[in-house]
Amino acid sequence: MLTVKELQVNGKVVIVRVDFNVPIKEGVIRDDNRIVAALPTIKELLAKGAKVILLSHLGKIKHKLKDEDPEKFAKQVRDGNLEPVARRLGELLNQPVVFSSVTRGEELEEKVAALKSGDVLLVQNTRYEKGEEGFAKEEGEGKGHDLAAYWAKFGDAFVMDAFGSAHRAHASTYGIPEVLKREGKPVAVGYLVEKEVSNLTRCVDVKAEDRPYVAILGGLKVSDKIKVIESLLKKCDKILIGGAMAYTFAKALGKTTGESPVELDQLDYAKNCLAKANGKIVLPVDSVIADNFDPALRTKVSVVDGDIPDGTQGLDIGPKTRELFAKEIAKAKMIFWNGPMGVFEQEEFQKGTIAVCEAIVGLKGKAFTVCGGGDSAAAVKQFGYKESFSHVSTGGGASLEMIENDGHLPGIDVLK
Ligand code: AMP
Repeated sequence: MLTVKELQVNGKVVIVRVDFNVPIKEGVIRDDNRIVAALPTIKELLAKGAKVILLSHLGKIKHKLKDEDPEKFAKQVRDGNLEPVARRLGELLNQPVVFSSVTRGEELEEKVAALKSGDVLLVQNTRYEKGEEGFAKEEGEGKGHDLAAYWAKFGDAFVMDAFGSAHRAHASTYGIPEVLKREGKPVAVGYLVEKEVSNLTRCVDVKAEDRPYVAILGGLKVSDKIKVIESLLKKCDKILIGGAMAYTFAKALGKTTGESPVELDQLDYAKNCLAKANGKIVLPVDSVIADNFDPALRTKVSVVDGDIPDGTQGLDIGPKTRELFAKEIAKAKMIFWNGPMGVFEQEEFQKGTIAVCEAIVGLKGKAFTVCGGGDSAAAVKQFGYKESFSHVSTGGGASLEMIENDGHLPGIDVLK
């Protein structure tokens, strides 16, 4: 794969797919990490004398609401406005960033035509276009392929730097590079994607020196992680399972789970999985429980071994499990972690997730440790452990799919 460093783009227009899907409340950006993460690639292109066009999505836009609930649709569109990002990017780059308030039409075309070497243009939210996400299904006004061709005609080259969107074959992530490649124009990976791919590939193609390889899975649903469990069973030496998903496994083993969020339709899967895991799966032996998820209605928090009594639910792994998991982690040469061990958003149920972080701190310099994005990455940052990991991914869904699909993602494969 070509990298941004190798591109020769002096005076050329380079379309860069970035991930500027940042949290914005009332027009104020709450966390600009993703904008900061895109700077090395943007700066490299500017230093090379390119004219840079940035494309990104922001939030979710459900196009069917346009007819069903116009007010809700209008709110989504307002919330998805990328203009505050253009302002912040301008501050970070210390130069003006041109913003196109539309995703197609005269305003955009005029602003692209006016670009000079070293200029940056940010285009409005790609998901304002139905064809962006509908690309594979050929849905939307002008259809996804027409949309990709429309955007592609602005560019002399394409750079993919939105790792968090690389698992989606959308018009901006897949369609544009497909068109440009067909025209013989260069398509490349940016610095962020290059780093993500090289770190996550190590968790996919496991070398002998990286064993024992221990995966830690948590979060809410088994059904979201079925494919990754299947894949990790083949690659890992141990899989530690915490979070709410552990209770579906517990129930499959005939344990009482009280009001814990168990997925009844996944019990057979969990049973089969445990049968073929050959002891690789390690489940919690105790839990922190409460009589209500809602802090306002909660009267009691306590710790139980094994079964969860009726009228209560498990909201974090307990102290014995924290120790058990820490012992397994201490033996590892490589870690892949996705999903918190409990409801880390509430103080009473943070200890399990923090214990995993602490155990990984103990591996610093001795093992290769990856946090696979999403809520676990948010927890790692919130608790101040980011620097202790070899790699914290910027893409939760993308890193899981990378593991599931043996290192393949549509938005990366299209660049090859
Ligand atoms: P996921 O997106 O699947 O990684 O799930 C993350 C969410 O799972 C977080 O918001 C956690 O609060 C939640 N979670 C983790 N453990 C539990 C639990 N035992 N009960 C309810 N929610 C949980």
